Parts: sequence; C-alpha cells; structure tokens
Amino acid sequence: MSAGADRLAPERLAPERLAPERLANVHQHIAAAARSAGRDPATVTLVAVSKTHGADMVREMLQAGQRVFGENRVQEAEEKFPALKAEYPDLELHLIGPLQTNKARDAVALFDVIQSVDRERIAGALAKEMERLGRRPACYIQVNTGEEPQKAGVLPADLDAFVIACRDTHRLPVVGLMCIPPVDEEPALHFALLVKMAARNGLARISMGMSADYEMAVKLGATHVRVGSALFGARPPFTAPSPETHA
Ligand SMILES: *Cc1c(COP(=O)(O)O)cnc(C)c1O
Repeated sequence: MSAGADRLAPERLAPERLAPERLANVHQHIAAAARSAGRDPATVTLVAVSKTHGADMVREMLQAGQRVFGENRVQEAEEKFPALKAEYPDLELHLIGPLQTNKARDAVALFDVIQSVDRERIAGALAKEMERLGRRPACYIQVNTGEEPQKAGVLPADLDAFVIACRDTHRLPVVGLMCIPPVDEEPALHFALLVKMAARNGLARISMGMSADYEMAVKLGATHVRVGSALFGARPPFTAPSPETHA
C-alpha cells in the first residue's frame, strides 16, 4: 500500500481568510463529495475541531453559522466553552480525545457527545456520572482500526462484545463509531472497515475523516467529519520544553 499517496488533498484556504469563507469552502467540498456518492449533503455533520485555538476564533465560526465543535482535551474545553455555550445555547460540543476516568464527571457535565469511549473502566465511569448528573451525552465507541499499540480505541475484534457491554451492562446511549486511521496508511480501507462494523452493530453514526481526507470519508459514509486545520488554519506546533538557546 502506498504511503498515503492516493490520499485526497482538499484545497485549503490560508488562515488569514475570513472564517465564513473557510467554512463555506469546507461545506462545498462536503456537499460535492456527498453528491458524487449519491448521498444527501444534509446527512453529513461538520464537527469543527477547535483545539489549541482561542475562544475568539470559535466565536468567529459561531458568527459564521457553525454550531458543532470538537475538542480533544476536557480541561481546554472547560476553559473555552462554558461562556460560548451560554451565548449560543444550540452549540453542540463533542469530545474527540482520550478520556481519563478522573475526568469523566467534567466530561459528562460539559460535552453533548463523547466520541472516545474505548474501555470498560471509562464506560463504567461515564455511566456513573450520567446517573449522578442526570445528563446523558450521546456516546460513540472509538475503534483502533489500525491496531496501533500507542493509539486509543477498542480493537476491531473486541468491538461487538464492547458494544454489548456498553449498551446492556452500562446502559450508555451508544449511537456510533469513531476512528483515526494510521497516518501512513490509505485511510479508505479504515473508513470502509468502520462503516461495516457500524452496520453490523446497528449504529447509525460514523465519525471519520479529518482535514486531509474528509471528502473520501464522506464518499464512504461518514455522518460526522472532524475538521480542524482546514477551518482554523495550522495549529501551533507542539513545543517540547526546550534547552536554553544561545543568541
Ligand atoms: C485534531 C483532530 C482532528 C482534526 O485534525 P485536522 O487534521 O486539523 O483536521 C480530528 N480528529 C481528532 C481526534 C483530532 O484530535
């Protein structure tokens, strides 16, 4: 398999372009991809991934009409979103990053959708907090389709049993599946696998596709695409603690 050579590279607009233009551009690509696959574009939800970007940039997207956002860290979302949710009551916030059990209560309190349920301990912790808080965010199960040791997600072979445990033992509102394909592999194979696993388990929602490959994800059946840099521009690079620099 070629190392991502066939991956679709949607044209991107420079970060300094206005939020409404960037948003319209991504919507146009989603719509074109949906139509080319005989799908109604309205069946695809754009999740705007705002991690590392400030509340001001999220507000620009809200003013441009975007309402669904994704964050990968509970604490970062807590710093930005309570005020924005108060301003825009129809804002829908998705957790798309790994969740620790000690953050389960905060996650249930803040997020409307949790896309990263991937183990019994977290399923149990979420169930307990949902009961306590009387709030039931919709849950997706994250699948490690590439079976990468360092990556979160339940292994494909364990998925069906885990879906049953989440539904029957923990009584979680499980509605879909999510995956993040390995960076160096053709994503289409992973997308096709996720679609098959969702159908087999009677799950209607499928979260797959990011800036580099969301059109392909839409063609293959994504109901939710998670797009960050194509909407908000490049994220600041991760900076490790650096040694003293000498001028
Ligand atoms: C950051 C992130 C995205 C968005 O990635 P882009 O390539 O910037 O579109 C999507 N999904 C997850 C889980 C992420 O952490």
